[in-house]
Amino acid sequence: MAGTLDFSPDDRCNAFITTCREARFSDGALAGVAVAVKDNISTAGIRTTCASRILEGYVPPYDAHVIELLRKEGAAIVGKTNMDEFGMGSTTETSAFGPTRNPADPTRVPGGSSGGSAAALAAGLVPMALGTDTGGSIRCPAAFCGVVGLKPTYGRVSRYGLIAYANSLEQIGPMARTVEDVSRLMSVIAKYDPRDSTMLDRPYDHRPSADIAGLRVGVPEEYFGEGVDPRVAETVRDAIGVLEELGASTVPVSIPGMRYALAAYYVICTGEASSNLARFDGVRYGPAVDIRKSWHDAYQEIRQANFGAEVRRRVMLGTFALSAGYAGRYYAKALGARQKIRQDFERALRDADVIAGPTMPTVAFRLGEKTDPLSLYLADILTAPANLAGIPAISVPCGRVDGLPVGFQLMGRQFEDERVVDAAYAYEQEVRA
Ligand code: GLN
Repeated sequence: MAGTLDFSPDDRCNAFITTCREARFSDGALAGVAVAVKDNISTAGIRTTCASRILEGYVPPYDAHVIELLRKEGAAIVGKTNMDEFGMGSTTETSAFGPTRNPADPTRVPGGSSGGSAAALAAGLVPMALGTDTGGSIRCPAAFCGVVGLKPTYGRVSRYGLIAYANSLEQIGPMARTVEDVSRLMSVIAKYDPRDSTMLDRPYDHRPSADIAGLRVGVPEEYFGEGVDPRVAETVRDAIGVLEELGASTVPVSIPGMRYALAAYYVICTGEASSNLARFDGVRYGPAVDIRKSWHDAYQEIRQANFGAEVRRRVMLGTFALSAGYAGRYYAKALGARQKIRQDFERALRDADVIAGPTMPTVAFRLGEKTDPLSLYLADILTAPANLAGIPAISVPCGRVDGLPVGFQLMGRQFEDERVVDAAYAYEQEVRA
């Protein structure tokens, strides 16, 4: 049944950086399914940019583990999707290839950083897509565009071939228009790979079940507090009510460490980014550097010219936070806060089987509306905690505010991705019926 798929999408929202006109497919669990892939995941023979000028002309010589698995199961890789440069952002506006627009309202951002993947799904261009999530980059665009996205448990999907931003936080994960398709894609990509030393051999192979009778749903007050649009909170409370009608019970829980979450997240992710991005020196990748000058000048010049402002900001912040004399004051404290948040979730997930709340504090912002870094960083408040704790988290659409999609977030215990998928599936089946 092998063949090629002609992929010439009407990409009005700028979801794709690269499209593969003649995408090949073969037999397998995803035979002939068109899959869009975020452009920070290596694809042999298809250029991979991370939406940055610094990778200009780079064509990976090998496939990421998840791409090997997709090809093995017959999927057609139809294109590489737009994103915030190196995954740093929540709007897809920091892309060197121009912003992606939200198909639900083209004057709005699609969220980020996997904004292209979410927009391609919402516009109906593909049925499945891969994203990556370091602090919310799968769930935020899923929420803003009205699609489904799962950030798997840390260590469940191989990061081999993912161009690293912040290794200790990020995971590749599935995105689709339905929970069932997210689960199908997850069943293909979550397989053990010894090339990622942070993996555990816990493959995912699951058909979602809508039977959630007896499920204990934890409702953390911190997810409904200050900064959360009351109409978004209300919409999500209604969604929790639907789970109760299906036989779930609710329990109040608390994540007191939440107040340190963003500070800890931004110290850790910028520290890891400054170290990961040191390799982009104009010699091995991207635009050529004039090496007749001193190495220091050449390195500075190539990076200044080819990294965007947000990437440079984070490299500087991270280098500072890790530098001798400051590492104890910042990085060590951030690791302590991370440990506290992890313990808070562990405790809450003894009283509850899943934890529910909004994915994002607001609906999608207008293009260009948020320009100062701090107000953008604040938008990650409800998503980054799951990355710090390494737990699975899914976003499923749950209605609209001002005509724009709202995301319902469900988080669970480590390696209980199946349970958050089932809860989201039960909700989705009930409201679709
Ligand atoms: N907005 C967050 C950040 O900028 C999340 C990014 C991500 O998950 N890749 O770091």
